[in-house]
Amino acid sequence: MHPSPEAGPIVGIDLGTTNSLVAVCDAAGPRVLADAEGRQLLPSVVRFVRGGAPVVGHEARARAVENPVDTVHSAKRFMGRGFAESAPAAGGLPYALVEGPRGLAAFGVGGAVVTPQEVAAQVLGELRRTAEASLGVPVRRAVITVPAYFDDAQRQATRDAARLAGLEAVRIVNEPTAAALAYGIGGSRERRMQPETIAVYDFGGGTFDVSVLQLVPGGPDDGEFFQVLSTAGDTRLGGDDLDEAIIALVMGEIRAQFGTALDFPPAARQALRTFAERAKVALSAAESTTLEVSLGGDRTYRRTLSRAEFEALAAPFVARTIEACRRAMRDAGNPEIDRVVLVGGSTRIPAVRAAVGAFFGREPYAALDPDLVVALGASLQASVLGGGRRDLLLVDVVPLSLGIETVGGAVAKLVIRNASIPTRATEMFSTSVDGQVNVGIHVLQGERELVADCRSIARFELRGIPPMPAGIPQIEVEFLVDENGVLSVTAAERRSGRRASVQVVPSYGLTAEDVDRMERESFAHARDDMHRHRVVDLTANARLDLKWIGDALGRVREQLEPAYVEELEAAMMGLKGHIAAAEHDARAVDANAFQQAKEALDRLSIRVHEVAIAASLRSAGAAR
Ligand code: ADP
Ligand code: MG
Repeated sequence: MHPSPEAGPIVGIDLGTTNSLVAVCDAAGPRVLADAEGRQLLPSVVRFVRGGAPVVGHEARARAVENPVDTVHSAKRFMGRGFAESAPAAGGLPYALVEGPRGLAAFGVGGAVVTPQEVAAQVLGELRRTAEASLGVPVRRAVITVPAYFDDAQRQATRDAARLAGLEAVRIVNEPTAAALAYGIGGSRERRMQPETIAVYDFGGGTFDVSVLQLVPGGPDDGEFFQVLSTAGDTRLGGDDLDEAIIALVMGEIRAQFGTALDFPPAARQALRTFAERAKVALSAAESTTLEVSLGGDRTYRRTLSRAEFEALAAPFVARTIEACRRAMRDAGNPEIDRVVLVGGSTRIPAVRAAVGAFFGREPYAALDPDLVVALGASLQASVLGGGRRDLLLVDVVPLSLGIETVGGAVAKLVIRNASIPTRATEMFSTSVDGQVNVGIHVLQGERELVADCRSIARFELRGIPPMPAGIPQIEVEFLVDENGVLSVTAAERRSGRRASVQVVPSYGLTAEDVDRMERESFAHARDDMHRHRVVDLTANARLDLKWIGDALGRVREQLEPAYVEELEAAMMGLKGHIAAAEHDARAVDANAFQQAKEALDRLSIRVHEVAIAASLRSAGAAR
């Protein structure tokens, strides 16, 4: 039985310890909804005000220092937990943990006793308003995720929170299951033929957990075909600890530099925490960052923190997560792991990714934003439960061709549409400018020949290529589309061994109509496109030829017969004319004549190249 469509959309909600999100899955696939300010992450923080409405999210988090005793964060840790079992862990909390109804943990805030469900209800209510504003319809139903280790009481508390927020929790889904679904694992019945074992590594703000899941072949079609083989983790280990480690370093150095008498009032500590988190986030992308804390008067503490220094601070925490991975693997009977999925903001840290990859012996999935992946998966589950299907894009072929941008705005296709997956393709490319040390790789999707007519799906840079003349570096680009439709693009330069890669899910954001339209357009423009592509390529290659010939001629002009030089220069002029015409209007160019001119020059230039090579061999010999 399907719910009636009048019931409105079912959203997917990631109710996190640190941040919460709401997503919806429509014809274009899953997407996270943003609030009026464009923010997707809602801090799971609520301030309770005596006699007033609670303050939820960004504002509550920003002003937590000023209102420490009335601001609840990390309420998820106490959902459905008894007061007695929670009390020992309540030590460092700025707000009061009290005994609530039925001996459960609650908070004494804003002059009242507030249960964790009520805190979660505030967060869910805010997400519901965001969804309603974004979708323009009432939202009454949600799929909500919880950690795999949540027991029945914790799951029931989550349902109660939803009800308080006016939402029906149509299903409670495990966070690792949602993450796997977001990657298309188990997404179609056809692909569910072999059992697949997946490790989901979730390193968030305040908690860490890892789950080993098994896809049960031929399970029902509603997402309940993942079996949790084991889970391990640490509910007191997260990105916050990394912030604390930076704070400890900074406070130690400040005391050493400016005297031990300095104390740090709460406002100063909060400021330090903000600095520390910012520095940590910056170091996921940059090699170093600057920390600067003004201490009043003319005293300023300032230092640069390198990624290596931060990694040393983070190492013990990362090691603890890997220990948990080892436990989870042992508890699951040390199965062969087919896929590793990264979840949680802290998995953006390169050292974390590397450690996870090394432990499991395979590159983890990171194509989707690790803070969004659980919400995206929840929305996919919601859409299946709501009767919406995306079969068309979940079949086992590549729906649109995949390629990269080449000189002049043309697209070199590596994977052709309808290729069955998994599929792999490689092609060699080179640089177009002398001494080029960085190459931008632009990944495109579509059937047309030029970049402007295709869909841009990713960009990355291959850096640190040794300087060489244009056209000499050999850059191998590999496209790999795996069973789940996840694309990995890797570029590697042969000589230096430098490599860089990116992962994307090309079907995200693509509707069945988009696919049809792009296919139709490619037919309509096939002839014209092919011509333009040919002219663009000819232009790029002719430029390179002219440059090489010009260089060689400059070096050995004196050693060549004047008549030959004259003939060569005339041929060069002729080719330049074709290039100029192509730049003016590629459509009007006679591509055959252009190609013949290029080939004639190539033949004619053999002599100048030979003489130039001989000359350079002689001078190399002389130098020795
Ligand atoms: P939770 O699941 O606990 O709600 P999230 O998955 O939202 O948490 O993760 C939040 C954590 O991720 C925070 O500690 C935050 O500082 C950290 N984080 C977010 N982005 C980055 C980044 N680029 N580099 C390192 N840490 C990050
Ligand atoms: Mg999370």
